[in-house]
Amino acid sequence: MKLSIVTPAYRESRNLPVMYDRLSTVCNDAGIDWEWVIIDDHSPDNTFAVAHELAERDARVRGLRLARNFGSHAAIGCGIAQTLGDAVIIMAADLQDPPETIPALVEQWSQGAQVVWAVRAKREGESASTLAFSRLYYALMRHVIGMKDMPSAGADFFLVDRRVADAMNSFTERNVSIVALVQWMGFRQARIEYVKEARLHGESGWSLSKKIKLVVDSFTSFSYLPIRAMSALGVVVALLGFLYAGYILVANLIDRAVPGYASLMVAILVLSGLQMAMLGVLGEYLWRVFDESRRRPRWLVEDAVGSLPEVKEPPAE
Ligand code: UDP
Ligand code: MG
Repeated sequence: MKLSIVTPAYRESRNLPVMYDRLSTVCNDAGIDWEWVIIDDHSPDNTFAVAHELAERDARVRGLRLARNFGSHAAIGCGIAQTLGDAVIIMAADLQDPPETIPALVEQWSQGAQVVWAVRAKREGESASTLAFSRLYYALMRHVIGMKDMPSAGADFFLVDRRVADAMNSFTERNVSIVALVQWMGFRQARIEYVKEARLHGESGWSLSKKIKLVVDSFTSFSYLPIRAMSALGVVVALLGFLYAGYILVANLIDRAVPGYASLMVAILVLSGLQMAMLGVLGEYLWRVFDESRRRPRWLVEDAVGSLPEVKEPPAE
């Protein structure tokens, strides 16, 4: 059996060599035949030069540099498309996901699971706001979008079987969360627990705007709820409007003056605000449709290093 490890890397030049040492120790000790595919997501630092050095030192390491910053989910998609192993593990470069967890993931896979999630039993070294955002995101995924099996403490470290990896390669959609996609795909899923450690060097590349985009991507990819909510809200507001009209009519009949200006302003502001918000929701769905229809490649490879220079293009659509 051969194991492929895929790592998206953005400004990770100091972490990659440490990760290489720990990965190779763990896999060699466990007697695992492995390869490591590093996808440099167009880092401004020397991440790719470090990947290059590692690839020259060890033929099991390959590196690809994307032509621009496509985001870690596109980088993971690109990485999976390059793998050759019977199983593929996706893990970050910052050593928050300890390589020492790999044998436990492989163990579950060898017992027949096709997707194995490494679920965070504990999370170290994260700010309160990061933890709160993460909790909110996974609660929304579970209870609003309806992915009940999504681990509540979150997961971004997992193993997929070759079949699942091939299935993932056949997906051509962009603006989607890879983690949610794997949840949605089904297959035989299992989980193990691990402690997500603090980042070794550097800072998280997940800015607030990237996080917000991930939330909206997750909704638009897996849920029509926002559109349904708009229709429901429209009906409720229209009903309230009719009720108010009835009230005015009756008040006029019994000769009681209804103050016009204030109620008019309230109605106009509330309704036009609601309408704009709804247009915004529609727009979020619409631009993604447009983005899909353009069929731009999901990633572009600027450079590749390693023993297998065969750079696979994104699958044909
Ligand atoms: N990453 C990436 N492109 C980006 C941002 C992050 O490839 O634009 C990589 C990053 O190098 C790391 C993984 O994605 O290996 C997870 O990102 P990070 O550790 O920054 O996020 P967090 O742990 O805060 O979720
Ligand atoms: Mg991290």
